[in-house]
Amino acid sequence: MADRYLSFTATAPGRFLTRRLGLPQPAALRRWSPEYPDLDGGLLHLTAGPSTLDLAPVLARTGPGTRSPDPVAAVVLDATGVRDVDTLAEVHAALHPVVRSVAASGRVVVLGAPLDPDDHHQAAVQQALEGFTRSLGKEIGRGRTVNLVRLTDAAAAESTLRFLLSPRSAYVSGQVIDVGAGPVAEGPIDHHRPLAGRTALVTGAARGIGEAVAETLARDGARVVVLDVPRAEEDARRVAERLGGTALALDITAADAGERIAAALPGGLDVLIHNAGVTRDRRLVNMPADRWSCVLDVNLASVLRTTDALLAEGALRPGGRIVATASIAGLAGNAGQTNYGASKAGVAGLVRALAPRALAEHGVTVNAVAPGFIETRMTAAVPLFIREAGRRMNSLAQGGLPVDVAETTAWLAHPASGAVNGQVVRVCGQSLLGA
Ligand code: NAD
Repeated sequence: MADRYLSFTATAPGRFLTRRLGLPQPAALRRWSPEYPDLDGGLLHLTAGPSTLDLAPVLARTGPGTRSPDPVAAVVLDATGVRDVDTLAEVHAALHPVVRSVAASGRVVVLGAPLDPDDHHQAAVQQALEGFTRSLGKEIGRGRTVNLVRLTDAAAAESTLRFLLSPRSAYVSGQVIDVGAGPVAEGPIDHHRPLAGRTALVTGAARGIGEAVAETLARDGARVVVLDVPRAEEDARRVAERLGGTALALDITAADAGERIAAALPGGLDVLIHNAGVTRDRRLVNMPADRWSCVLDVNLASVLRTTDALLAEGALRPGGRIVATASIAGLAGNAGQTNYGASKAGVAGLVRALAPRALAEHGVTVNAVAPGFIETRMTAAVPLFIREAGRRMNSLAQGGLPVDVAETTAWLAHPASGAVNGQVVRVCGQSLLGA
């Protein structure tokens, strides 16, 4: 279902009228394409407080295409050295004069330090950066995004900075991402085909977001396995054929789904994407038990079961990546979705608890993406007024596309993203729902 309002506001009369009426002003987002791989313009590197990060070499490899400061395509503000309210003022002093000159669809990335539990002044002002980032994201407009990355080691954050400072992160804004100290990938990485030689399995990939994820991972060099229910086998085959991968017809709720995936992939698996999901909306008072159990089974129980089975069988190779699909409905709650919200919040809980152990015991990271309103068949079926509200109630005033979730998944699946673990990253254009 095309977003006609977005097309209308892109015209001169549309812009004039919606501005006069005080209506949302979505800007057409510039997304990655082979012709547009990098943001247009220069990168401004600013500092607030005494930083000890060795950022310059990473930014030299990472940032937008040209080094010329005009136009400013991205600003990176290193605020890791902010430890008190006085140095916090340097955040204002650094960004106040430049924020206006950031180009449309540009990026502001604030770098912060982990909160120090032994220093409540440092913890207070580092937490302040979160409120600052989210507030700037809500006011900056023109398709520009603002995100906060907490880190201690610039090299470990390279893949994250590459993602956030590129057109790939067009619909990711207002996020706080913690990057650990390592491990950093061994050896050189071909950033055009980072997943070359790796096998990725995507559940629910016959259509929608899963299909886009499979497509993006294949673009990045992965051999993809397109898993979907037997009744969608034909579509799954079509997708797999197009991407040079294979299809696997399997209902993920089968008790032995993990074992069957492992048997189908005797060479092992590098990337496991839990994308399959269903909704069966009803208010709790009207919800029969089967609508509850169906959603919990597909969205949560099968994710728990197959993850456990594949880790126990050693099917995920060291350096492996698991990315599960949550939803902002699970983080914020949504009327009529007690079953769905519970299942998706469960995914976030699973990710946070399993991540440190999976990394320590298997060398595998575990993260989640939490989509907001994404233009798919699922959301096309939503009644008009609720659909319009879903589209506009975010800082970018539009719905995301499946490719936005796919690009975020590809960053988490990247071999250089080993220091990103246990994160739940929203792909929601900074939706007004939830924090
Ligand atoms: P979709 O309905 O278009 O696609 C889901 C796919 O999963 C389908 O191909 C379906 O056949 C498959 N599937 C369902 N049950 C399965 C099972 N038991 N075994 C194997 N495959 C199964 O949905 P979508 O909009 O592409 O959503 C993909 C994921 O993103 C879901 O987890 C969904 O909850 C989540 N999500 C979507 C949105 C959105 O706005 N579309 C927002 C938040 C979260």
